[in-house]
Amino acid sequence: MPCEILPCCQLINEQMKAMPKAADYLKEHICLGDFGYCTWYRVYRDFADGQVRPDLFDSPDMQEILKVQQCLQERREHPMEITITFPGGEKVNAEVNGRTIPTDQPVEAGGEGSAPTPFDYFLASLGTCAGIYVLSFCQQRQIATDGLSMTQRMEFNTTPDGKKHLATVTIEITLPAGFPDKYRNAITKAAGLCSVKKVLMDPPEFVITTRTA
Ligand code: SF4
Repeated sequence: MPCEILPCCQLINEQMKAMPKAADYLKEHICLGDFGYCTWYRVYRDFADGQVRPDLFDSPDMQEILKVQQCLQERREHPMEITITFPGGEKVNAEVNGRTIPTDQPVEAGGEGSAPTPFDYFLASLGTCAGIYVLSFCQQRQIATDGLSMTQRMEFNTTPDGKKHLATVTIEITLPAGFPDKYRNAITKAAGLCSVKKVLMDPPEFVITTRTA
């Protein structure tokens, strides 16, 4: 697995621009290999773990570290690239931000049913995205979340050519006992802030091309 900092690494991507061959060598031997030995990596990791040397505060070094942290955060929130791989059978994996999200098809569709289907993940992304907003809403107001849950229901229409069409997604929030009545409306609005839902409301343009491996 490559060093997670690589896409945001100032050393490789900025400071070594004038030494592309050396940068490639370093990348191949350290960034894509034993990156745990890299001093830069250790500085960034120590920062992420909250172990920052006091003399780094208010220094240009710190500004560089913060730049990297911000870059990594932005990439986590808005991944720029996902690699799709085909490990065998009907399985299709998505590699995103250093993690593998596996998918499979049900047995009746020729798969092994070993993982959710891509469409399952899409539907789950709606509920889980709304869920994080609901959870944050409660946490920010110190509202206990014992008993908090959500049920997502889907209704499908059949189109004139016989295809299934997702017509309605309903999310019902089960509020914890003692949840303040005054927040009932606000928590449904919080769930509606879901970023996945926003993408559906304002869909991106899809461009599909080919290239030879
Ligand atoms: S291993 Fe070091 S040089 Fe390579 S990307 Fe990570 S921090 Fe940068």
